[in-house]
Amino acid sequence: MLRTTLQGRCPACGQASVFAGAYRLKATCPSCGVRFERDPGHFLGALAVAYGLGVLAVAALALVLVLRFGLFAGLEWVLIAGAAVIVPLLYRPAKAWWLWWTWAAGFVYRDDDRLSPPS
Ligand SMILES: [Zn+2]
Repeated sequence: MLRTTLQGRCPACGQASVFAGAYRLKATCPSCGVRFERDPGHFLGALAVAYGLGVLAVAALALVLVLRFGLFAGLEWVLIAGAAVIVPLLYRPAKAWWLWWTWAAGFVYRDDDRLSPPS
């Protein structure tokens, strides 16, 4: 899980990259055919995960800055700038992790896995 998440690889086969751009996913895995996005808004949860992790990271940054320098003028702008950098950096691994868990839970699968009649 950790390897496929950090490398942005397909959770089903681990062979191909799932990303077609910085944040945009391919429609399907070129190696095994898993369709990554089943419904519109499938990855809103990844945004929430990245935001939550970003809040924790900015809180940790605030704690370090306040303990080191005390409350200083402009601290809020430093934290806003930190959040503007941290959250986008976390979005890609959060999206890959979101894809992994939705695959592990059975929400992401190949097109022909559920469309063929039971035999
Ligand atoms: Zn695959």
